[in-house]
Amino acid sequence: MAAVHEVDISIVGAGPAGLYAAYYAGFRGLSIAIIDSLTEPGGQVTALYPEKLIFDVAGFPAVKGRELIERCVEQAAPYDPLYLLGQRADELTPHGDGSFTLTTSIGTVVHTKAVVITGGIGHFTPRPLPDAEDFEGNGLVYFVKALESMRDDDVLIVGGGDSAVDWALNLEDIARSITLIHRRDRFRAHEDSVNKMMDSSVEVLTFTEVHSISGDNGIELVEVFNNRTDERRILKVNKVIAALGFKSDLGPLKQWPIVIDGRHILVDTRMQTNVPGVFSAGDITEYDGKVRLISVGFGEAATAVNNAAVHINPEAKVFPGHSSG
Ligand SMILES: Cc1cc2nc3c(=O)[nH]c(=O)nc-3n(C[C@H](O)[C@H](O)[C@H](O)COP(=O)(O)OP(=O)(O)OC[C@H]3O[C@@H](n4cnc5c(N)ncnc54)[C@H](O)[C@@H]3O)c2cc1C
Repeated sequence: MAAVHEVDISIVGAGPAGLYAAYYAGFRGLSIAIIDSLTEPGGQVTALYPEKLIFDVAGFPAVKGRELIERCVEQAAPYDPLYLLGQRADELTPHGDGSFTLTTSIGTVVHTKAVVITGGIGHFTPRPLPDAEDFEGNGLVYFVKALESMRDDDVLIVGGGDSAVDWALNLEDIARSITLIHRRDRFRAHEDSVNKMMDSSVEVLTFTEVHSISGDNGIELVEVFNNRTDERRILKVNKVIAALGFKSDLGPLKQWPIVIDGRHILVDTRMQTNVPGVFSAGDITEYDGKVRLISVGFGEAATAVNNAAVHINPEAKVFPGHSSG
């Protein structure tokens, strides 16, 4: 039997904007469901750069991605949001009384009085390392959830972007050995980080790609080849991080009755879409002068939720009052 929930407000996307929307909805006394297709909250921050330091969030001179998300979750926790993780919000059905029904990819049904879409760059999945499915979760990962999970490992990193180079640098003092292979000789990462990596103990092999992975109980050997000379080499590693980038797609949101321009949802100054009661915040929104930053998403989430509170109860004020007690 599919689960059925009744809430005041549903938030689609548990990235930083969605988590802050959950806090604000709780502060406004609204009951909350927060849906994400990823199995952990944090959106791009958790999936792509949990160990990176972020320098431009107000009040935090420097904060690791992971810690920022932990704080956002903690901030919303007193209001007990219902997390529906590992499920995509697939269908949105508006009703004549201004309420909605949301249905997720596993059949969960949420009846809700307002919706805030904080879907970021959409539902995103890593670009797979070809012919390596057998080792997924068994030595092969697409992002590193915790650096400590690689302590004393022999790690092969595949990729030439920021994530690949950052993992290499961050793991240098944790892993036993690190080899990074990249199919070109030019990196897409910050020059400064590439220079640091070149000066580090990381072994960097350019024009190199994976030929095959083998091992009976997890990864034991990876055969790599030089794509210019076809020279082969066998690396003894037990972990592979494939940092080949992500594919993102708005997916089912494109079928919803909201106006989408390219990959973004058009909103007004209240962060409301063309559908009354459906609001949006964070990277997914578009308006003249839009800046895609975490700090901007936080502000938009507050605006969206406070206006959603008025949609739910027209007697309510947009201004929530001050939180300081
Ligand atoms: C490497 C890197 C470094 C960055 N550094 C900084 C920085 O230093 N400072 C800064 O301000 N910004 C930085 N950013 C950008 C920042 O991460 C984004 O602006 C921020 O994550 C946007 O937050 P969001 O909540 O709007 O969306 P996201 O973080 O993208 O979260 C959206 C969530 O919605 C979910 N979702 C989408 N569609 C659905 C659906 N139909 N059903 C269920 N779930 C759905 C997704 O799975 C995702 O979890 C960086 C980005 C990257 C990639």
